[in-house]
Amino acid sequence: MGMLKVDFEFRKEIVKDDFSLNYCYQCGTCSSACPVALITEGEYNPRKIIEESLLGLKELLIKDQKPNVWLCSTCQMCVEECPQNVFLTEIFDNLKNKIVQTGNYPEAYNVQGNAILEYGLAIPLTTPIIRRRQQLGLPSIESANIEEIGKLLEATNFEKKINTNGYSKTEKGGM
Ligand code: SF4
Ligand code: SF4
Repeated sequence: MGMLKVDFEFRKEIVKDDFSLNYCYQCGTCSSACPVALITEGEYNPRKIIEESLLGLKELLIKDQKPNVWLCSTCQMCVEECPQNVFLTEIFDNLKNKIVQTGNYPEAYNVQGNAILEYGLAIPLTTPIIRRRQQLGLPSIESANIEEIGKLLEATNFEKKINTNGYSKTEKGGM
C-alpha cells in the first residue's frame, strides 16, 4: 500500500452528506457492538470506516474498500450504541452510493437490482420459499405491483445505475 493521502475535499463531501460524522471521537463502541466485526474477528470494523471518512481516505474507502463497507448488514446496533449519535449506516449508505458510481461493487447487488426490475422484489418468491412459508404457517405474500415499482425505478434512473448486461427479462410468471 502506498502512502495514505488525506483528501480534504472528499472528507467535506462525506460530511455534507451526513454532518454527524464530525461528532465521532473514535471510542470504538460501534465496533464492540457490531456482530459482523465479531464474526470476521475485526477484519470488518465500522470505527475504522468512520476514521477513514474523517480523514477523507478516498482510495481506501472507495477503491480498495478496506474495510469492506458492503459487509455491513445494516442491523443498526452501532447506531443504537454510539454515544455521539453518529449515523453510521447513513454514512455507509452514502459511501456505497459513491462506490456504485465507480461500478466496483459486489455482483450480488446487480442480481438483486435486476430481480427488482423484473419482479419488483429483491428476492423473488420461488416455489420452495412459498412452500416453506406455508409449512411454517406464515401468511402468503402479495406479489409486488411491478408497474408501480417500474415507474419509481424509471423516475430514479435505477436501470442506468446498475449493470443489466447479461441479464434478460424472463417470461413473467416463470419464476
Ligand atoms: S461509537 Fe460513535 S463515537 Fe464511538 S467510534 Fe463509533 S462512531 Fe465514533
Ligand atoms: S449496522 Fe453494520 S456496522 Fe453497524 S453494527 Fe450492524 S453490521 Fe455492524
